[in-house]
Amino acid sequence: PVPHPPPGEPDHVRLEDRSKSVAGTSKRSAQSVTTVYDIKEGIEGAIGNTPLIKIKSLSDATGCEILAKAEFLNGAGNSPKDRVALSMITMAEEEGLLTPHSGDKVYEGTVGSTGISLAAICRARGYLAHICMPNDQATEKSDLLLKLGAVVERVKPASIVDKGQFVNMARTRAAEHTADPNIPGRGFFADQFENTANYIAHFNGTGPEIYAQCGGQLDAFVAGAGTGGTISGCALYLKPRVPGLRVVLADPQGSGLYNKIKHGVMFSSTEREGTRRRHQVDTIVEGIGVNRVTANFEAGRECIDDAVRVSDGQAMRMARWLVEKDGIFIGSSSAVNCVAAARVAKDLGPGHRVVTILCDSGTRHLSKFWAKTGNIGGDDSATLADILEF
Ligand code: PMP
Repeated sequence: PVPHPPPGEPDHVRLEDRSKSVAGTSKRSAQSVTTVYDIKEGIEGAIGNTPLIKIKSLSDATGCEILAKAEFLNGAGNSPKDRVALSMITMAEEEGLLTPHSGDKVYEGTVGSTGISLAAICRARGYLAHICMPNDQATEKSDLLLKLGAVVERVKPASIVDKGQFVNMARTRAAEHTADPNIPGRGFFADQFENTANYIAHFNGTGPEIYAQCGGQLDAFVAGAGTGGTISGCALYLKPRVPGLRVVLADPQGSGLYNKIKHGVMFSSTEREGTRRRHQVDTIVEGIGVNRVTANFEAGRECIDDAVRVSDGQAMRMARWLVEKDGIFIGSSSAVNCVAAARVAKDLGPGHRVVTILCDSGTRHLSKFWAKTGNIGGDDSATLADILEF
């Protein structure tokens, strides 16, 4: 245990003293100071290097080791989108498309997480942010965006071919900004779906971190896809380095990606979702599941071996299970990932290691997913078999 400092003694003295005993060297030594102090350079410095958490209940129930990358602990916007937002802004700066404190404004179409990460990093870097999002998403996300000083434009859910759709709206707003001589600076459309700075962030960050944290030993990687950046970036990094690795897409009900992986086609007339309008991925789950192949999904598609479809009911039961048994409070897409990870673990059989992603916290989903999922207590007797049954 760390000895308690005498009252009134400032923290840094205690840390320096510890550095002496740990490193056995003078407190003036630069090396001993850097090994003890761990100071991040602004919020950008608090992005990445997230913990890999063993989910004990699911590991016990499957006989596998189920590990989850706690991406909700990224320190700017608290989701994997921190990595993506930082990557898109940094690359745009390198290409001369954005200049800090010049009035330049970042425009993005997002269901929330990417907008929150962009809004925070924009503040830190001296940009304005304008976020277009569908008006059916949990209000926590738009409220938070307003608190971060972003302009928020909530639009009607619409098909990608509709110019009022949230991504198209963001593109249009960026172009309008750039074309208007009365508005200072330029408009930059971040374009997370098609901008490959997205999957590159995971190829350079999330993937190598998982590899290092597992010592290169893992049997399966399981993740959902919204833009596809996470699964593609991680898969492209891990697949050539981990012999025999299975990469599995976790897809919520109503999404077309499951069929794309399983059957090579986005829709099948015999499938329920074939009858839906294209823009409606009919699920309570936010952030994953789409009905088109984006550039970021396409980048890693060849690496994806299989897909697991997860119903809303399964996701809700898993979310409750994780609170009840592990004290882990997560959002809907993370719950889908955990259902699919447990399914893959069951299929592989005991003794394997399965890695998945915890994207965001349940606090972002209180008004929608968790309102429906309910409070823990009462009848929480679901077994893993109940959850995995479709
Ligand atoms: N979970 C949440 C909550 C998200 O917002 C997103 C991104 N839309 C994802 C998961 C999926 O990540 P990706 O876009 O990298 O496929």
